[in-house]
Amino acid sequence: MATKTDIVIAGAGIAGLWLFNRLKREGYSVLLLEKDSIGCGQTIASQGIIHSGLKYAFAGQVNALARSISAMPDLWRAALRGDGPVDLSAAKVNASSQYLLIPPGFMGGLIGLVAKKTLGGNVHELPAAQWPQALRQTGFSGTVIFMDEPVLDVAAALHALAAAHPDAIRKADILHDAEFVIGANGAIDYLNLGGQAITAKRYIFTAAAANRPLAEKLGHAAGLETQARPLLMGLMHNAPCELYAHCVGPSDKPVMTITTHRAADGSLVWYLGGGVAERARDSSPGDVYRAAREALGKYMPGIDLSRVQWSTLPIDRIEGKSAASGHLPDTPVIHAAANALYCWPTKLTFAPMLTEKILEKFAAEGIRPSAPQADWSFLPPCPFTQTPWDTARWTAAASA
Ligand SMILES: Cc1cc2nc3c(=O)[nH]c(=O)nc-3n(C[C@H](O)[C@H](O)[C@H](O)COP(=O)(O)OP(=O)(O)OC[C@H]3O[C@@H](n4cnc5c(N)ncnc54)[C@H](O)[C@@H]3O)c2cc1C
Repeated sequence: MATKTDIVIAGAGIAGLWLFNRLKREGYSVLLLEKDSIGCGQTIASQGIIHSGLKYAFAGQVNALARSISAMPDLWRAALRGDGPVDLSAAKVNASSQYLLIPPGFMGGLIGLVAKKTLGGNVHELPAAQWPQALRQTGFSGTVIFMDEPVLDVAAALHALAAAHPDAIRKADILHDAEFVIGANGAIDYLNLGGQAITAKRYIFTAAAANRPLAEKLGHAAGLETQARPLLMGLMHNAPCELYAHCVGPSDKPVMTITTHRAADGSLVWYLGGGVAERARDSSPGDVYRAAREALGKYMPGIDLSRVQWSTLPIDRIEGKSAASGHLPDTPVIHAAANALYCWPTKLTFAPMLTEKILEKFAAEGIRPSAPQADWSFLPPCPFTQTPWDTARWTAAASA
């Protein structure tokens, strides 16, 4: 048996799902393959912050890149309203904005000014009288900068993106289950999967860490560079309030970034990233708990930590490195080889940007929708992943 389709995508994280939806909307016949469960990689582990380029302001880069990134929150908001490039109207945000917490002596006013210069509009210092109740009860004192960056409910977004065409999202490990047949020019002729030969015009790999071994297996790895940055994210169960904030420290990276999530038992969980999570693979969870306690003690001395419980999530952040830039990528990276594209969005925020770059390539190369929608029921359906706060094992505060 043989099935023809326009596009095969492998990897159902935010990159694959956003692209899948956009291509479906354009009328392409698309198959999206996922080896495990929808969103199970970095995407469900992300904090869901839709960045607006503020970090570039800290690094002194008030440039075109920072401005193009500053368009991302509005683009995501349009999708959430149902009038963007994909329909996220069934999803929601956890918060419409966040705060920068700048302790006394850190030139909060200057940071606020730089941020405003880069991003304009809705970035401003929040007078103490306007601090939200949640922030007051933490005991923070210093400068608070209001940032117009939404925080996405990532699980809801995954469901919204997968809901429209579940029949074309199937479970298969493209690295181990599929047998690729490569033509003389290095292009993929077709792949054998589930007892069928599947032929597509383009094969797009959004499989994060698996992109490299795939490229090696298919002879497409020349010039491809990737990097993995290990993180040990902290989780704090029984958090006191809903808070979305970056604790600013001496470097351009926050000491700690806090997002809030609701666990299955209804309690609040603070998910802790930034400096407290950036540590080597062999670090122990206790290192994260200690760093988080220290940061909380310094920035939020009003919080009672006696009833909280802790957990950690080890996760690698995977990025492609473009041969051209040769440095840490700030925007999506695409490695093109024959009729295959190996893609990394670099941030959840940039999944729409990655898709638009791919569509530009399609337009330039004349890749248009033409194959009929196919029946993929010969492959098993793909389940959804669970959130880190629903699968965490909590450690009592006393033993942490
Ligand atoms: C802790 C953490 C916090 C973050 N916070 C933010 C944030 O707040 N804001 C932001 O913009 N970015 C954030 N990021 C970055 C962001 O999460 C990633 O850039 C983005 O999710 C990457 O999406 P992806 O679809 O490329 O990869 P992934 O989400 O990792 O998806 C890859 C998918 O490919 C599948 N796959 C792997 N191998 C195969 C195979 N052989 N066959 C088929 N499928 C396969 C995996 O199972 C997975 O589902 C964060 C990242 C981390 C790790």
